[in-house]
Amino acid sequence: MAAVAFIGLGNMGRPMALNLVKAGHALRVFDLNPAAVAALVAAGAVAASTPGEAAAGAEIIVSMLPAGPHVRDVYSSAGGVFDRLAPGGLCIDCSTIDVATARDVGDTAAQRGFGFVDAPVSGGTSGAEAGTLTFMVGGPAAAFAVAQPFLAAMGKTIVHAGGAGNGQAAKICNNMILGISMIAVSEAFAMAERLGLDAQTLFDISSKSSGQCWAMTSYCPAPGPVPTSPANRDYMPGFAASMMLKDLELAEKESKSVGSATPMGHLAAKLYRDYCDQGAGGSDFSGIIQMLAKGA
Ligand code: NAD
Repeated sequence: MAAVAFIGLGNMGRPMALNLVKAGHALRVFDLNPAAVAALVAAGAVAASTPGEAAAGAEIIVSMLPAGPHVRDVYSSAGGVFDRLAPGGLCIDCSTIDVATARDVGDTAAQRGFGFVDAPVSGGTSGAEAGTLTFMVGGPAAAFAVAQPFLAAMGKTIVHAGGAGNGQAAKICNNMILGISMIAVSEAFAMAERLGLDAQTLFDISSKSSGQCWAMTSYCPAPGPVPTSPANRDYMPGFAASMMLKDLELAEKESKSVGSATPMGHLAAKLYRDYCDQGAGGSDFSGIIQMLAKGA
């Protein structure tokens, strides 16, 4: 079993790290939030006081951080991971970040003699808890092969998406679909209520019809039909609306950089910006149904 450092123990990182502990790996963990660290220590991990301290002596580093600047800081700042990791160590960044930062941090890793893959995930907190995440991995084939058994302890579907940054490209495209489809499902359930059609009935029909999608059947934004969805716990995340906005803004940035037409992605970003501006950035992203249900 390997010495693994895990940095970023939030909604996703905590259950992912717990699954690595369950698989028998020795974890050294760091998060800015002491309560997040304490939860892992209770499960048998060792606390580190900086990312560099977590990396010292590790063979594998896994990070699950909010956005690109956090990833750059954890890996590249003075005393960070790259200053303390032993030569030959492999870094697996599972955060959702911009393609350019993923490629840039990957290049720095290679120059310093480390492996690096971008390995963002899909499947939400329930997938993280169940160890059924989908990983989309960018990086050299040799690094992918080393990463694979560690990813298999946290997920079920592991896809090599190509060279550095391609994991992030896949994730950003996927989440643009998710942001747009969550708004579509929310609009439909809000309109159904006004039309006198209850949520469970619409769910029973649409979940077996052409409107079926993950945002409906696994994460229904209307309370009731999917007991595990955040709609049934007052939209506590889950996946925060501010994170969805970040991902849709990444999609806008990437679409501009390659001249891709993404009118629905653009509108979805605007609606999530409006929702977050109302102070709801910390709510689950499916809570956008509450904004839409207010009516025109
Ligand atoms: P989160 O905010 O719950 O967790 C992020 C954690 O990182 C927090 O515990 C925070 O304290 C820690 N952190 C921030 N800066 C740090 C630093 N410099 N050093 C150490 N720790 C630091 O977020 P999350 O929902 O777990 O999401 C993490 C990433 O996974 C994001 O990029 C998100 O887009 C992506 N993601 C989330 C979901 C989901 O359903 N929540 C699904 C797929 C992908």
